[in-house]
Amino acid sequence: MMATKSELTQQLGVVAGFDDPRVDLEQYRTPPELAAHLVHTADLQGDIEGRTVLDLGCGTGMLALAAALRGPAGVVGIDLDPAPLAIARRNEARIATQTPISWIRGDATRLPLTPPEETTVLMNPPFGAQDGNEHADRAFLEQTAAVADVSYSIHNAGSAEFIEAFVADNGGTVTHAFAAEFDLPRTFPFHTENSKALDVEIFRIEWN
Ligand code: SAH
Repeated sequence: MMATKSELTQQLGVVAGFDDPRVDLEQYRTPPELAAHLVHTADLQGDIEGRTVLDLGCGTGMLALAAALRGPAGVVGIDLDPAPLAIARRNEARIATQTPISWIRGDATRLPLTPPEETTVLMNPPFGAQDGNEHADRAFLEQTAAVADVSYSIHNAGSAEFIEAFVADNGGTVTHAFAAEFDLPRTFPFHTENSKALDVEIFRIEWN
């Protein structure tokens, strides 16, 4: 029987975040509750079990590892930065999953691999929150459109119009959209509060 969402949240409590997060790469760890919510929802839709799950911009592995706990055929996490990938490996050992996982250093917008046909992409890509970087998530969506038949992605609130238009232009369909809060601890010097709830939107997209 499928474990509950709160059991998954609990299991993900051991997944460490970034040691020394880079602002240019928008390194923020997804909170365990939000990762569990996303992956539990995906699992209920039949999008995890037995499939290949690809986490684009995996960081320390939160989404990849959440998926690994729900019986996929295999998981691949890819990130530009080797530092969080080393933490992801330690996190993998902590959650003690049997799922085969590959951690790959590379550009998620120019994938160095060809995933199998039944691929689900999960991602919390850079939002382009910093000046001059607007819609950094576009390149991640372009790559997703090329390799996935279904995807779940986290974007900042107010992205719906952009997402709908992009997906329509790329022959896909947004089947689900839900709002969530992303609890952000103080990470960078320009953050003025100890923590802040960021409003985000999660989209399930079917690609053809
Ligand atoms: N998926 C993780 C991390 C999200 S932060 C989580 O949910 O906790 C965004 C991640 O994308 C960072 O780890 C950053 O290093 C990575 N990243 C940014 N641009 C990238 C690119 N072009 N290719 C691969 N990874 C990238």
